[in-house]
Amino acid sequence: MTKNVPRSKCKTDSIMKLEKFRKHLHQNPELSNSEHQTAQRIIDFLKPLNPDQILTNVGGTGVVVIFKGKEPGDHVLFRCELDALPISEKNTFAHRSVVSGVSHKCGHDGHMAIICGLATKFAEDRSFSGQRILLFQPAEETGEGAIAVTEDEQFKALKIDCCYALHNLPGIPLGQVQIRPGTFNCASQGMSITFTGTTAHAAYPEKGRSPALAMVELLQQLTDITNEIDTTDLQMVTIIYSKMGEKTFGTTPHQAEIGVTLRTEKNAMMSKLKQLVLSKVETIAKQQQLEYSTQDHDVFMASVNNEECSTRVAQAAKKIGQDLVWLKEPLRWSEDFGAISSMTKGAMFILGAGEDSPQIHHPEYDFPDALIKPGIDIFYEIAESHQ
Ligand SMILES: [Zn+2]
Ligand SMILES: [Zn+2]
Repeated sequence: MTKNVPRSKCKTDSIMKLEKFRKHLHQNPELSNSEHQTAQRIIDFLKPLNPDQILTNVGGTGVVVIFKGKEPGDHVLFRCELDALPISEKNTFAHRSVVSGVSHKCGHDGHMAIICGLATKFAEDRSFSGQRILLFQPAEETGEGAIAVTEDEQFKALKIDCCYALHNLPGIPLGQVQIRPGTFNCASQGMSITFTGTTAHAAYPEKGRSPALAMVELLQQLTDITNEIDTTDLQMVTIIYSKMGEKTFGTTPHQAEIGVTLRTEKNAMMSKLKQLVLSKVETIAKQQQLEYSTQDHDVFMASVNNEECSTRVAQAAKKIGQDLVWLKEPLRWSEDFGAISSMTKGAMFILGAGEDSPQIHHPEYDFPDALIKPGIDIFYEIAESHQ
């Protein structure tokens, strides 16, 4: 007697084709802002589906694919990312990266496969109204890509009504959907702070102006700084690095640099926190008679989920039978999708990558192919809710 295999367990040809494509993308990763071949591979995969429009070089190497429905309606955008990371892959499987020092360690290869699968479904049935717009965005890892896309004239002309994105996340059950209205990912930005004084002979340190005490004082003050702001919203200052002087034992140092990452739940809080850090730097520099300068790095806006769009995600997840969790707190890490969703209504959600999966950005991480089908199905149900 043969056992009946449930239909949902059968891998269709189309899913197998997407898994193969995902592995091909995994093997050939490209860093942020250099995703030329990846963009071409996406175009080559999607062109045979005869979309109404393919836009290229959007915000750099970005690709936008548009399917138009029968009647006017919502312009709904679904986003994935093109870029990989400067991390050497530790895996030995057949589809390991062939590019030295570069690999898909955030699962963007899987996100692209999901959006390609979604395109296939839109191409098969065009009875919807409005437009289905698929964005393959460059340079997510550096926080530059989404902003560049929103500033592109080709993108502005699309007049998006709603936008959606997902990110896989190891450490939670495979396929579990996590969402919340309001801030989903926190705002963050790096800041480097430099104090500059004057060197002196190490035998006469009083003749120079060493930044040593300023550095110690600032590190201490930054550690406690968030206690000074009266809010229950999440906010953090994380010390990333500090460096001072050279291994020259006859000379006192003249320069010290400290790197920090600021993180807040709301965009408005970020500018307040930044001002507070700058005022500490200025006061300490004055006390220690030093010059100072600061520089911003990797600026990410908070990714804020619209309530109605979050509900559509939750309903879609329930409809296809995925486990759903409403998050109580925002995720601490940042996502540049906030730059797109701040222009319109939108929602981002998490798709669990399994409790045993290595974390993203870990050299042994690999996107679980089992997420391709639920990813497509959730996005498709969201699209269907926009008639
Ligand atoms: Zn990512
Ligand atoms: Zn990442």
